Amino acid sequence: MSHTVCLVPGDGIGPEVTEAARRVLEASGAAFQWVELPAGAGAVEIYDKVLPTHTLDEIEKHKVALKGPVTTPIGRGFKSVNVQLRKKLNLYAAVRPVRSLPGIKTRYENVDLVVFRENTEGLYSGLENEIVEGVVTSLKVVTKVASERIARAAFAYCKERNRKKVTVFHKANIMKKSDGLFLECTRRIHAEVAPEIEYDELIIDNGCMQLVRDPTRFDVLLMENLYGDVISDLCAGLVGGLGVVPGANYGDDCAVFEAVHGSAPDIAGKNVANPLALIMSGVMMLRHLGEIEAARRVRQAYDGLLDSGNLSELTRDLGGTAGTRQFADAIIARL
Ligand code: ATP
Repeated sequence: MSHTVCLVPGDGIGPEVTEAARRVLEASGAAFQWVELPAGAGAVEIYDKVLPTHTLDEIEKHKVALKGPVTTPIGRGFKSVNVQLRKKLNLYAAVRPVRSLPGIKTRYENVDLVVFRENTEGLYSGLENEIVEGVVTSLKVVTKVASERIARAAFAYCKERNRKKVTVFHKANIMKKSDGLFLECTRRIHAEVAPEIEYDELIIDNGCMQLVRDPTRFDVLLMENLYGDVISDLCAGLVGGLGVVPGANYGDDCAVFEAVHGSAPDIAGKNVANPLALIMSGVMMLRHLGEIEAARRVRQAYDGLLDSGNLSELTRDLGGTAGTRQFADAIIARL
């Protein structure tokens, strides 16, 4: 069976890493029909929109997308593409698995955690006002509905993937009502759906300190939108950087798979970006599509490649000399 998947190349390093990921996925044994769609700065030139209507419609129709990073031009009144996509498709759960990879030396070993980020509200409400000159407010929105559904998603994930513990990062000592409500919801859902799973809470500043001290003590981290954004990058740094951490945005109907990293304009168009984060996101997509064997094969292929330590096949961020295309070629050769 062939899967129809929307492919959004995006901006910066996006076209290079999506092309690499597409080629690897095609060599995985699963079959795809790709629907290529515009979004981001590149789309503005043609459609005068960062997120053309047909891009949204096609993702809604086919329900699955593999997406490169996009840039939203600043100062021209455009709303962030990522925020729009997540809100309009109701992709409320951002899931970012962070694990130590074979052959990649970092300060830590045996890191294996998953960041669960609420993806639709918090300080991403876009509600900012200049009340009087020199005074601006930014509204943090927390609702019971969104807090409960991300908690449900996190506990369901624990059960499905045999994860043992959820730690909620928060700042309810300061934001007593907003983060307080988030905590109230996570506690209630924990008691209701998964009392057998260990649950604890950490004030986020302490959580950051504990993460860099010993990330191996964590399993699933659950938090609101902005904290999840920051903690995802922090966690990427624990295991080798932004080139090696994948992500998925799940809603009840659609799923969009994308790396944690941005469009990295500093290295765009040079064939040096590491496509692994998007390839790993592709593996999450294969699992979502029920292509368990193809997912296993791709993972085995890149784990083997990393483990070989052959610098001529690894990208620059991993200490190697291979380009984006050559790295993908090396994975395909192993498949
Ligand atoms: P955004 O705000 O869009 O999330 P950002 O400001 O976090 O973007 P990135 O684009 O993610 O920034 O890049 C941060 C740094 O990490 C840059 O120096 C970039 O070159 C590097 N980087 C990001 N992705 C990759 C990658 N896939 N391979 C190699 N280096 C990368």
